Amino acid sequence: MEKYVYSFKEGNKDMRDLLGGKGANLAEMTNLGLPVPNGFTITTQACNRFYEENEELWQDLKEEIRKGIENVEKITNKGFSDKENPLLFSVRSGAKISMPGMMDTILNLGLNDVTVEGLSKKTNNERFAYDSYRRFIQMFSDVAMGIPKAEFDKILNKQKEKRNIESDIDLNTDDLKEIVKEYKAIYKKYIGEEFPQDPKVQLFNAVRAVFMSWNTPRAKTYRKLNEISDTLGTAVNVQEMVFGNMGMNSGTGVAFTRNPATGENVLFGEFLIDAQGEDVVAGVRTPEPIARLENELPSVYKEFKETVEKLEKHYKDMQDIEFTVENGKLFMLQCRNGKRTTKAAINIAVDQVNEGLITKEEAILRIEPKSIDQILHPTFEEKDVKSKEEITKGLPASPGAASGVVVFSPDKVIEYHKNNLKTILVREETSPEDIDGMVYAEGILTARGGMTSHAAVVARGMGKCCVAGCSELRVDEEDKVIRYHGGEIKEGDMISIDGSTGYVYLGEIKKVTPELSGNFAKFMEWADEFRTLEVKANADNPRDAKQALDFGAQGVGLCRTEHMFFDDKRIFQVRKMILSKTLEEREKALEKLLPYQRGDFEGIFKVMEEKGVVIRLLDPPLHEFLPKTKEDIESLAKDMGITTQVIEDRIEDMKEFNPMLGHRGCRLCVTWPEIYKMQVRAIMEAAINVSEEIKKDIKPMIMVPLIGELKELEFVKGHLVEEINKVFDEKNKKLAYEIGTMVEVPRAALLADEIAKEAEFFSFGTNDMTQMTWGYSRDDYGKFVNAYIDNGIYERSPFDSLDTEGVGKLLDMATKLGRQTRPDIHVGICGEHGGDPRSIEFCDAIGLDYVSCSPYRVPIARLAAAQAAIKRKSK
Ligand code: PEP
Ligand code: MG
Repeated sequence: MEKYVYSFKEGNKDMRDLLGGKGANLAEMTNLGLPVPNGFTITTQACNRFYEENEELWQDLKEEIRKGIENVEKITNKGFSDKENPLLFSVRSGAKISMPGMMDTILNLGLNDVTVEGLSKKTNNERFAYDSYRRFIQMFSDVAMGIPKAEFDKILNKQKEKRNIESDIDLNTDDLKEIVKEYKAIYKKYIGEEFPQDPKVQLFNAVRAVFMSWNTPRAKTYRKLNEISDTLGTAVNVQEMVFGNMGMNSGTGVAFTRNPATGENVLFGEFLIDAQGEDVVAGVRTPEPIARLENELPSVYKEFKETVEKLEKHYKDMQDIEFTVENGKLFMLQCRNGKRTTKAAINIAVDQVNEGLITKEEAILRIEPKSIDQILHPTFEEKDVKSKEEITKGLPASPGAASGVVVFSPDKVIEYHKNNLKTILVREETSPEDIDGMVYAEGILTARGGMTSHAAVVARGMGKCCVAGCSELRVDEEDKVIRYHGGEIKEGDMISIDGSTGYVYLGEIKKVTPELSGNFAKFMEWADEFRTLEVKANADNPRDAKQALDFGAQGVGLCRTEHMFFDDKRIFQVRKMILSKTLEEREKALEKLLPYQRGDFEGIFKVMEEKGVVIRLLDPPLHEFLPKTKEDIESLAKDMGITTQVIEDRIEDMKEFNPMLGHRGCRLCVTWPEIYKMQVRAIMEAAINVSEEIKKDIKPMIMVPLIGELKELEFVKGHLVEEINKVFDEKNKKLAYEIGTMVEVPRAALLADEIAKEAEFFSFGTNDMTQMTWGYSRDDYGKFVNAYIDNGIYERSPFDSLDTEGVGKLLDMATKLGRQTRPDIHVGICGEHGGDPRSIEFCDAIGLDYVSCSPYRVPIARLAAAQAAIKRKSK
């Protein structure tokens, strides 16, 4: 029979798959001899079986849970439902990968009308016992039985009003007894039976509730966002309760062994005296810095500090720790590798290499490549900040700079987002239900909650700017207004927030690009030592090329020339060229375009100097450039001396049923070679001009799109070479260049050995290759791709992350075939997949020479390529 329940003594940190992250680490800490309250973990496997609706499971599981309870009873000398010395449990979820605030917890389980008296006598604190009981009834009813929490809040508030008091703390024992009575009545009203008095029934229901919480909409959204598989399931941790709310000698807190925002090597955290853990995590009360613990409970602080230092050394990583102090005794409730900003992650990794704790390889593998994006983005321009009114300062919960209009609900964020408007989501405090809105907001601002509140943790994970705990702000979500000392901010007003300092400003502030020096530069240098793939950039203009160079690109892997055609100033000539009736007319229009194109290429060559630049000749169907408005058609007709009707007829003639598979790419050259000829002339003239000007060799690499057949390439290449030789003759100068092809039509991959006879390099255009291999139009797949993902047909869109089995097979094959013909052929990828870490790992595995991606993804690609190489070598 499968084993579903493990005592903490039976597990260890490597059993995350089965015990979840929390369970595995509780076991590890127990076995390290740390003060962990006793308990057991119900496996993720049990959760998965639960979803298979296996009734037998329940019988087996209940039996194992009973044994688990007995075990804890023996060790603690307490009894589950013992009226003198009652054993109480906390019941918490714990998946393999932590999902903060996403799932539900029940505390104080085991209390009933009898044990509450036992707890009261034992602690000599009747008020505490009844407060715990009413909290339990509320949590159990809400979490396990789905009774609206608001019902309980109503009763609590009514009692406070009746007694004319403001805070829960002022409720006396009689009030709490009254509340317990009314809570139980609510339970009966909703469920139709009395509140369960049998602790075992309570526990079984709680376990079921945790299993159910794995599939709540908010948990599903979080998993989708973080690419966590739905099939992992959650474990359930059943652990003896310890109480942080037993007076001034007790408390609870959350700490990180290093600062999770900056990475600074100091103990960082928050602590609340006389409180239960949920008060800190949920951001209900604003906690104190951990340093206060040293003054309040010095010996506990000392023990705590030693313990967490030991844990960091043991796990070789920064730890995030939850702890409770019950009557002066320290208990560890959780430890895990702490979530951190990317800036902190890099600083910690570099420091830990310098401290000798981890190797460079470990440091490199530790940073999620996509997360680098967080630090590449702008901060506020200092000068502009000074001119803005500062409203308040909150906690710098997640770095970055964001401006947007104020909205008060996640729905509004989405509504504004659909209209391309940037928003700041402002909340009293965020809750897990807000996650959909948080995704689309530019930034998040909350009035309550600390650095470890829900908003802070989730925003940091998303790399989203967040300022939390702005206690001077009154956020009125109902009237949609923020009140502050200087006035009011209404929905739709523009504000700016700085997640690195915590400042909040009125109006929009200009932003500047970040400095990428210090530890970041060092870390990226380390990555470069390991990677074997070259990283180039897709850049169509000098500005993007410069940005890419600053991010460490080794050349331009794709310059799409059509973007130059779309330019406002040139489009008129482009249209004339397309609509010309005769070759002569067309050549005249092309002549006008030539200086523009030459200027574009000169700009890029000057930036990239000797680094190779791959220029792709015109690709899209010509009708994309044609005029759409009446005015544009009229002014063209006037200039060309033809009627608007002639133009409209021509436009009609050029319409295609499947433009993506139509008259585009090299097919344009087969019909109108003069366009490509103008382009290569512009490229070669620019290359000669710049190489003379800067006295460096410029390396133009001319790339022909959409080739599917050798003769097609021969035809195009013939025209190109003829024109290039003309330029050489005219200029009386020669220059080394290469002509290569994109491999994006599956036929080109199948016949890559043939194509390589003429192509000096290959670049996989995996956007088109995915389109043509799957038969999914790039323009239309968005309508159905999500249904495929939701139905589990595939995990992610093949346009986002390379389909390594199908499209990847073509890439692998084409590379091998190409190299058979031309062993030194340079092979790379320039589709969107070139910046996707998972796809990069595949490119490394099949031995490509380079990847090319958009400038902001260059550092991501450098790191992903390094990780791929390290993993490959360690296999
Ligand atoms: C491709 O098809 O992958 C590619 C890079 O070209 P484009 O996206 O311009 O079609
Ligand atoms: Mg393409």
